[in-house]
Amino acid sequence: MGRVIVIANQKGGVGKTTTAINLSACMAAAGMKTLLIDLDPQGNATSGLGVQKQALSRSVYDTLVDHVALAEVVQPTLVDGLMVVPATKDLVGAEIELVDVPEREYRLRRQVEQIRDAYDYVFIDCPPSLGLLTLNGLVAADGVLITLQCEYYALEGLSELLHTIVLVRDKLNPRLRLQGVLLTMYQHTNLSKQVMDDVRAHLGQKVYETVIPRNVTLSEAPSFGKPVIYYDVKSPGARAYLALAREVAARG
Ligand code: ADP
Ligand code: MG
Repeated sequence: MGRVIVIANQKGGVGKTTTAINLSACMAAAGMKTLLIDLDPQGNATSGLGVQKQALSRSVYDTLVDHVALAEVVQPTLVDGLMVVPATKDLVGAEIELVDVPEREYRLRRQVEQIRDAYDYVFIDCPPSLGLLTLNGLVAADGVLITLQCEYYALEGLSELLHTIVLVRDKLNPRLRLQGVLLTMYQHTNLSKQVMDDVRAHLGQKVYETVIPRNVTLSEAPSFGKPVIYYDVKSPGARAYLALAREVAARG
C-alpha cells in the first residue's frame, strides 16, 4: 500500500512546493510509482510539472466538492511514473462551499484510500494556511513532512503546526506521524548555520540529514515546467533532492 506524505507549513515561501515537485520527481525517477496531489489554489506544483491549467476540465476541486474520483482527475507528467492531481484557482471556493458539510475534513482521505494501492508514494502539497485544505491533507496522510526555511523566524509558527498535528492525530487521523523536518534554502552564512543548529537542537532526529541549499536552478526549473533533475541534474539543488529521496525512502 502506498505511503501518503503531506508537505505542510502554514508559512508561505518556505519550500513546500519546490520540495513537493522535486521529491516526487526523484522518487519516480528511482522507479517508485508516485502521485503528487496539489492542494494549493495557486497550482504551482501543477504548473511546475508542466501541466497547463487552462486546458484542464477537472481538478482536485471536483474531487473535494463533487466526489469525482482521483483516478479521473490525474494527469501524466513528463516524468515517467509520476502523475499529478492538478489544482486551479477554483479551489479557493472549496473552503467556503464545504463550510456546512459534515465530515468535510475527510473528503480527500476517502478518495486517497481508493487509489493508494496503485502507488508507492502519494505526496500532497499544501497551501500556506492551516485551513480546511491543509486539514484535508493532514487527515489523508500517514506522515507530515515540514519544510523550514533557514532564515530568521524559521521556528515561528512551528509550535502551532506541531500542535495541529497532535490535534489531528487525536481527533481525526490516529495514524498521522511527523515524518521529518526539512531545512531548505540553506546558505553558507552564519545565520543559516545558526538556524540549522537551533532546529537540530529542538527537533533532533526528526530533522533530515539532507539540507536543501539555496540554488537558483531550483527557482528557474518550474518556469520550464520541469523538476530540477530534468532541467539540470548536476546542479546542487538536484543533487540535494536526490539525496532527500534516498533518505525518505530509507526512513520508510
Ligand atoms: P512554498 O510552497 O512553501 O510557498 P516554494 O517552494 O514555492 O514555497 O518556494 C518559494 C520561492 O522560493 C519560489 O520562488 C521557489 O522557486 C524559491 N525556492 C524554493 N526553494 C528554493 C531553493 N532551495 N533555492 C532557491 N530558491 C528556492
Ligand atoms: Mg507552495
